[in-house]
Amino acid sequence: MVEEPEIALSTIYRALDALEDVGAIQHIHLGHGKAVYHLNESVHQHLVCERCQKTLEVPEDFSQRMEIELRARLNFHVKAHHFSILGLCDECFEAEVAAENQQAKS
Ligand SMILES: [Zn+2]
Ligand SMILES: [Zn+2]
Ligand SMILES: [Zn+2]
Repeated sequence: MVEEPEIALSTIYRALDALEDVGAIQHIHLGHGKAVYHLNESVHQHLVCERCQKTLEVPEDFSQRMEIELRARLNFHVKAHHFSILGLCDECFEAEVAAENQQAKS
């Protein structure tokens, strides 16, 4: 019997939805809408490089401090881990600066 990959995939997504409903896992967005799932006890915020898609994990105490600060100052209860912070990793930053310098010279 030949496996239908699309059917298998939708089954997986249904299972993930069910797990999220019972609170076992949570989805998190990396970059432009791309979602990943994390076990609820290991949820953390991510930093994503827009250029090379490298992903870093934000230390938990750091995002917790941000959540506490925003609650205190703006009365807003953020879910800091839901979306990632986009930016550039050090290598890509250097590469962009180098490219800009190149353009400035020519
Ligand atoms: Zn979402
Ligand atoms: Zn992660
Ligand atoms: Zn990068």
